[in-house]
Amino acid sequence: MPGLESDGHEFFGLVLTYDLDRASRRVVEREMQQCNAPTPQQPTDVTVVRRMLAGVEFHGKMIPLTQPPPGMPATAERAQVERTIDPAELAARRFAPADSDSAKLSIGNLAGGNATLVNSPSFIIADLADHPKVQLGTISRSLEGVLGRFSGKYGMPRPPCLVTVYLVSSADKLQKLAKQLHGLRISPQCIGYSIPEDMSMVAIVPGEGIGTLSHELFHLLVRSHFGDVPPWMDEGLAALYESSVVTDSSIVGTPNWRGGILREHLSLIPTLRNLITMDWASFDQSESRDFTKQAVNHATARYFMLYAQKEEKLRDLYRSFRERDVRNLGHTLAEDPVLRVEEVLGGSLTAIEDRFQSWCRLEIGQ
Ligand SMILES: [Zn+2]
Repeated sequence: MPGLESDGHEFFGLVLTYDLDRASRRVVEREMQQCNAPTPQQPTDVTVVRRMLAGVEFHGKMIPLTQPPPGMPATAERAQVERTIDPAELAARRFAPADSDSAKLSIGNLAGGNATLVNSPSFIIADLADHPKVQLGTISRSLEGVLGRFSGKYGMPRPPCLVTVYLVSSADKLQKLAKQLHGLRISPQCIGYSIPEDMSMVAIVPGEGIGTLSHELFHLLVRSHFGDVPPWMDEGLAALYESSVVTDSSIVGTPNWRGGILREHLSLIPTLRNLITMDWASFDQSESRDFTKQAVNHATARYFMLYAQKEEKLRDLYRSFRERDVRNLGHTLAEDPVLRVEEVLGGSLTAIEDRFQSWCRLEIGQ
C-alpha cells in the first residue's frame, strides 16, 4: 500500500519469524520484496526449515552429541519425511476428554496393539515400555501437574483435546514408532518429539522421569497460545522445564547438563543481542549444520531463562513478547526484542549481559 511500504516490510518480516514451510516462506518473501521498503533488507533465504515437514510440525529433543553418529548423514535436520500422513488423519487422532474410551481404542491400534493404555483428565498414555501400572499412574499425575503449572504461570489454555503420550524404551523403538505413527525417519540422537497436528508426544521414558515429556509439552501448549514465540524463548523455556521441580503453586527449572555444554564452549556463547534476535534458521544453525553451535545456542537460551527465573521475570518476559502489538511498536522490529528484555530485566542490554554472564559463569562452574 502506498505510504505504508515500511510497515508492510516489517509485517512480512514478522511473518517470516514463524516456522513456515518452504513454499509459504517463498510467498511471504515475494510479498515482502514488493513492499520496497526505504531501507530494503535481503529476504531471508532459508533452504532448510527444521520444523515443518510436509505439513507436519516437528519438535525433537536430542541427546547432546555434537557429531552425528556413524552412518547418520551429517545433517542437523531432526527428521525426514518418508510417508506423508494426511492432515485429516492426524486431526482424527485428537480426542475430546469425554471420548477417552474411543481414544484408548484408536490410540491402542495406532500404537500397534500391545500398548498399555491409561488416561487422566488431559492425557492418554500408550505405554510400549512395560511400565508397571503404578508407574504409569505416577507419570500421568506428574504430567497433569506440569500442565497445570504451565497453565497457571503463563496463562496457556488447557488443550481442548487429550494430549497423547507414547512411551518407548529405546532409541530403536522410538525410530520404529516415529515411522509407524508419523511417517518420519528420525535421527538416532532423538530422545523424544512432539507433533501439534495430532497433539502427540513420543519419548524414550525408561522410568518415571518426565523431563523430555515436560520439554515437549511446553512446545505443544505454547503453539496455540503464542504462535510467534521467538526461538530462544520457545526452546529456552521448553529446555528449562526438562529438569524442574513442581511445587504447590509453580514449576521451577533447575541447572542441568546443558550447563556443561556452555562450560566446554565458552567462546561460542552468543551475545544476548545475538541470541534474542536470532531467527529459527540461525538459532538451529540449519544452514551451516554446525551441531556444536546449535547445542550452544540451545544451552544459552536455557540458561538465560534460568537466569530470568532467578530474577523472577519469566512470566513478565513471556507476557511482554506475547502481548506485543506489531502494528504499534513505535520502533523497529529488529530493536523490539532488545527493548523488551531491557524493560523487563531492567537496565541496558550491556548491563543485563554483564549480570547474566557473571551469574552464568558461577552457575556452570567457570
Ligand atoms: Zn525443544
